[in-house]
Amino acid sequence: MTTLQVHQFPCLDDNYGYLVHDPASGLTATIDTPDVSAISNALKEKHWSLDFIFNTHHHDDHAGGNLELKEKTGCTIVGPRADADRIPGIDQQVGEGDSVMLGDWKFNVHDTPGHTRGHIVYHCANAGVGFVGDTLFALGCGRLFEGTPQQMWTSLEKILAWPDDTLIYCAHEYTQANARFALSVEPENEDLLIRSKAIDAARAKGLPTVPTTLSLEKKTNPFLRPTSLHLQQTIDRVGENSVDVFARTRELKDHF
Ligand code: ZN
Ligand code: FE
Repeated sequence: MTTLQVHQFPCLDDNYGYLVHDPASGLTATIDTPDVSAISNALKEKHWSLDFIFNTHHHDDHAGGNLELKEKTGCTIVGPRADADRIPGIDQQVGEGDSVMLGDWKFNVHDTPGHTRGHIVYHCANAGVGFVGDTLFALGCGRLFEGTPQQMWTSLEKILAWPDDTLIYCAHEYTQANARFALSVEPENEDLLIRSKAIDAARAKGLPTVPTTLSLEKKTNPFLRPTSLHLQQTIDRVGENSVDVFARTRELKDHF
């Protein structure tokens, strides 16, 4: 099997666009549609044509370019069944347990409500990559606009079940600000201290901190660490269950 190619580019203020390309079939998908001109330029630069849009959720910086790109390219739009009425131009509705193919590459779909009620993520196990939209960020997680902490924690647990070396492609470059919060709740986490220095160095050079890996997130992302005693102590939730620790962590971040 040839490799699955992921072309990443920054767009809007702090979004990432992703083109996913299968050289064997020549098929290309964009993960979400944050910025039509940036996506069109990336397609031109790579000499790829667009076959699919894989939407993660309905927000404008994720599905706002759907109709224009569909008009331009005739691509097929795949998106969350649970939010079909809010995904412009949706052709194929998917949810938990479904999969979508890009050539021979299979992307498993998971429902991950929390940030929005219909958020989904795409996991290609054979390529070792996951596109998580605004559910999980490097050192962070999405704000709970339309879901409860219990829903979001259950969503994050689905991602936690992927292999540790999975490359996590999230939709925003929020890492530096996330690191400041993470350090405030786990100030003695050695892995986090080391990582935050590396993040500052990368950003000083204008380099992306995305993709990340699930293993690195498990060691440093406070939203995935409700069982950390250090975290529990800092936020005054020792011995509480994961949902309650997660909920408190999210609440603190909202007011950080
Ligand atoms: Zn969003
Ligand atoms: Fe977003």
